[in-house]
Amino acid sequence: MLINIALVVGTFLFMEGVAWFTHKYIMHGFLWSWHRDHHNHHNDFFEMNDLFAVVFAITSIGLIGTGVAFPEVGFLTWIGAGVTLYGFFYFVFHDIIVHRRVKLKVNTSGRYMQRIMRAHYIHHKIHSKEGAEAFGFLYAPEKYDRPVKEKKAETQASQY
Ligand SMILES: [Zn+2]
Ligand SMILES: [Zn+2]
Repeated sequence: MLINIALVVGTFLFMEGVAWFTHKYIMHGFLWSWHRDHHNHHNDFFEMNDLFAVVFAITSIGLIGTGVAFPEVGFLTWIGAGVTLYGFFYFVFHDIIVHRRVKLKVNTSGRYMQRIMRAHYIHHKIHSKEGAEAFGFLYAPEKYDRPVKEKKAETQASQY
């Protein structure tokens, strides 16, 4: 049981690395044609970029199904569960909280949320294949914390 939980949690953490790598080297690489519309304004609900979510969904279904069908590799089910769990949190963060595709109110006032949101907004400042930064989703380095200056300016502005 413990090992299964470790597999789910480990896969979840590992998936942030996979997502970062995919985003930096594949989406902003040879599959930019799938990702381009996510960086450019349009009025359609669906994007070519959603195909990446489909690929990850098929992967997790494949892993879970294989683990269930073949008990010798039953651990694949737990790895698939980790991929699914990551996909869920990715969707809530990226599609609901940042891009507002589903209008749900979420409390984003915490330092962690502010940091990863700011990192993704900075990622979207660039509309081209080259030159973007901050390719992670659920983790962002400390440098993406809101600068103290900005915070001060805002409190001052709100006093008027
Ligand atoms: Zn991008
Ligand atoms: Zn985005």
